Amino acid sequence: MTDRQKQHLLAFLGFYGGAVDGIWGEQSRQATVDFQCAYMESPDGVFGPETQRRIRQVIGNSEKPAAQSSDFWKEITCFSRAEFRCTCGGRGCDGFPAEPSERLVRNAQTARVHFGKIADVSSGVRCQLRNAELPGSAANSLHLRGKAMDFRIRGIDSQSLCAYVRTLPGVDEAYAIDSQYVHMGVEKYERGTENE
Ligand SMILES: [Zn+2]
Ligand SMILES: [Zn+2]
Repeated sequence: MTDRQKQHLLAFLGFYGGAVDGIWGEQSRQATVDFQCAYMESPDGVFGPETQRRIRQVIGNSEKPAAQSSDFWKEITCFSRAEFRCTCGGRGCDGFPAEPSERLVRNAQTARVHFGKIADVSSGVRCQLRNAELPGSAANSLHLRGKAMDFRIRGIDSQSLCAYVRTLPGVDEAYAIDSQYVHMGVEKYERGTENE
C-alpha cells in the first residue's frame, strides 16, 4: 500500500482531512493515531501491515450494506454509506446502530445534484452514547434511527439549503444548525411504506 493509498483510505473513513498527495506528514500520522484509537488496541501512529489489514476490514464492513437495506446505495453516487457512520469512534457502537434511511439518503443526493456543489455530512447515524454527548440533541433524535443527518453544500448558506430541503419528500424536520449546516429529518410520522 502506498502512502497515497493510506491517506485515501483514512480520508474515506473521515480521519484525514488533508491533501491525498502521498506526502506523509504530521496530519497523516495523527489520522493514523485516530484510526488506531477507534479500531485497534495499541495506537502507535505507524501505518504498518497490521493497520493496513484492519483498515481494509473496517472499510469492507462499512461498504457492505446490511442485508435489510436493499441496494439503493448503488444508485447513490454523491455519498457513501461510510459518511453516515456514527462518530463515537467505536466507543458506543460499530458505526451503524441503525441503517441510514433510504428516503434520507435519496433526499441528500437530490439536494447535492440540485446545487451541483460538494456536500459534507457532519453527523449521520448516532448511537445513544454519541447522541447524548452532543449539545442540544434530543433524547429521541431521529439520528438514532438513521432518519436524520446534518450536512452542508459548500458555498450554499444554510437558509437557502434549508428552504430547499423543506421541498423534498418525507421531510419532517429541517432547520439551520449554523450558517452552513442543516439538519434534515425524515419519516418522523409514519406514512406507510416507502417501497416504490
Ligand atoms: Zn456510536
Ligand atoms: Zn441533526
